[in-house]
Amino acid sequence: MTKRNSIAGMKEQVAGWRRELHKNPGVKHQEKFANAFIKDCLDDLGVSYKDGYGGFGIVATIEGNKNSHNRSIGLRADMDALPITEESGQPWASANKGVMHACGHDGHTATLLGVAKYLSETRNFDGKVHLIFQPAEEGGHGAERMIEDGLFKDFPCDAVYGLHNWPFMKAGTAGICPGPIMASVDEFNIIITGKGGHAAMPHMCVDSIVIAAQLITTLQTVISRKLDPVKAGVVSFTDIHAGEGAHNVIPESIKIMGTIRTFDQEVRDMIQTELKKIVPEFCALHGAKAEITIIRHIDPTINDAAEAEFCADIMESVLGQGHVDRKVNPCMGGEDFGTMILDRPGAYIWVGQGTDNPKSPHNYGLHSQYYDFNDEILPITIEYCAELVETKLKI
Ligand SMILES: [Zn+2]
Ligand SMILES: [Zn+2]
Repeated sequence: MTKRNSIAGMKEQVAGWRRELHKNPGVKHQEKFANAFIKDCLDDLGVSYKDGYGGFGIVATIEGNKNSHNRSIGLRADMDALPITEESGQPWASANKGVMHACGHDGHTATLLGVAKYLSETRNFDGKVHLIFQPAEEGGHGAERMIEDGLFKDFPCDAVYGLHNWPFMKAGTAGICPGPIMASVDEFNIIITGKGGHAAMPHMCVDSIVIAAQLITTLQTVISRKLDPVKAGVVSFTDIHAGEGAHNVIPESIKIMGTIRTFDQEVRDMIQTELKKIVPEFCALHGAKAEITIIRHIDPTINDAAEAEFCADIMESVLGQGHVDRKVNPCMGGEDFGTMILDRPGAYIWVGQGTDNPKSPHNYGLHSQYYDFNDEILPITIEYCAELVETKLKI
């Protein structure tokens, strides 16, 4: 039987797993159900694993028919859900109110279980493959914690690969690019403290609101004047708060929040340095004090050029020529798989899941309450992973 046929034959079973995972979601650090479900599945398949990496993370290992060069690679799937109340209307909608698989990590986990089934039954490769089930992708530093817990020490990987379903592309297509594909995500908080007082007597006060208004405009020049114009970066202000609802009071202080996005570690450092320098100096110039804290959150996801080319070739062998965009435009969203491929060579690919029906749950954007993973792409994601392993670890 061909690989494609045998994977097609397991589609309903894997879709069943996916729906079970979908129905029982857990947000970051609470992926207890997925953890137990994955272990049950691996036990049934007779695949060995180690538990407890980065919390509920699991790493399963499958050895090929041969292991003559001591080669090994990692395939990673994320497993956490989001704090969203589901409105997809699907029969397998979340049974856990206020928690939902709105990013399709249920589909990624099911894919890797399907890959475990196929590879453990065939073992048509030379080396080892480590299946990395990662918790806490959605802002929970899951990748970093797995690495801290010894992921790549206990399971050395020559390269590591990840994928994400992409509702913005049609099912049957995929997108990848060399270099950055997703952005770094950092968060900042600023508190400006002036001198409060009567709004009719501003000369007796240090008005933190006026200072904040000018500061926000000034900080945009970090992007427009300090950043090399051929590179990309975003500084966005997302929350601003001062005062207690009075028309006649100049408040003492103001709090501002925001996010920084880039594709490049150097740009990331430059923006942070500039913000840390400009904010206190600018406020001091106007007689106010300022504190800024920046939380480094998610690393950029930077595809190794050769690995991206390799993954594009593999995906093209699955989808056919012309169905893989090899120079897809990167996205300013964050993905903590970036931390894994800063550590190891590797690549990350988007697998289209959209349909022709605009009202289909598969066409809603990631993190929408109407979204659902498209089970029709499971044979694609599984075949891609299987083909990747059999080619990279060719006998
Ligand atoms: Zn997400
Ligand atoms: Zn996601």
